[in-house]
Amino acid sequence: MRKVIAGNWKMHHGPSAAVDFLSRFRPAVQEGSVRIALFPPALSLASARRAAAAAIEIGAQHIHWERSGAFTGELSAEMAGEVGATLALIGHSERRHLFGETDAEVARKVRAAIRAELTPVVCVGELLEERRAGRLDEVLARQVGTVTEALATASDFMVAYEPVWAIGTGETATPEDATAAHRLVRSALGELGGAPVLYGGSVNPANAGALLFAPDVDGVLVGGASLDPIGFGNIVETGVGG
Ligand code: PEP
Repeated sequence: MRKVIAGNWKMHHGPSAAVDFLSRFRPAVQEGSVRIALFPPALSLASARRAAAAAIEIGAQHIHWERSGAFTGELSAEMAGEVGATLALIGHSERRHLFGETDAEVARKVRAAIRAELTPVVCVGELLEERRAGRLDEVLARQVGTVTEALATASDFMVAYEPVWAIGTGETATPEDATAAHRLVRSALGELGGAPVLYGGSVNPANAGALLFAPDVDGVLVGGASLDPIGFGNIVETGVGG
């Protein structure tokens, strides 16, 4: 399976910064060798799509489950698709924990992404206290379990295992921890377990190789370190070289 290298820009890189990033990142892209996806803020989706090489997939960080309606500030999967998004990040821990997104809402958003022919990239992961309490298995089984029925209807999807304690903290799971968690995710996915499972949480050019090539890890979802085109390009090259 081709490694997946995905970048989540969070609330960084407006439309002009997105174009600037892509003009500097494009030389790192080797068609077909790895699957590259970028998740810019909603306002930068259109300019990122125009500036990106065809081999770079663009995705929305967040979608609503309805096609349209009185939902001020929201963005539908269809609207994201209209400006060139082909993926949607769903259930990122910042959405779950800062904005109170529930498992039920995550499942509705997965269905919306599939309806709009976007590839859902579903984020799951435990809090530090859940890990310390020995509840990793239960948390992943619940988060994955709420979306499996919807995912069974998708032609393409991915799951990103992102331990909440590793996101934006500089602390990463060990490659062994990532492998163990990815096996739990696959077991919760049951017969859908052949889908790509990515690791996310403080991935950077120095640690990307060990995580990317750990058993059962199909790629990485990179936050902070995806903002720099050179550093993100180095992570892509690590994926190409493996
Ligand atoms: C993320 O936002 O999905 C993420 C993993 O962030 P960071 O790499 O900064 O920890």
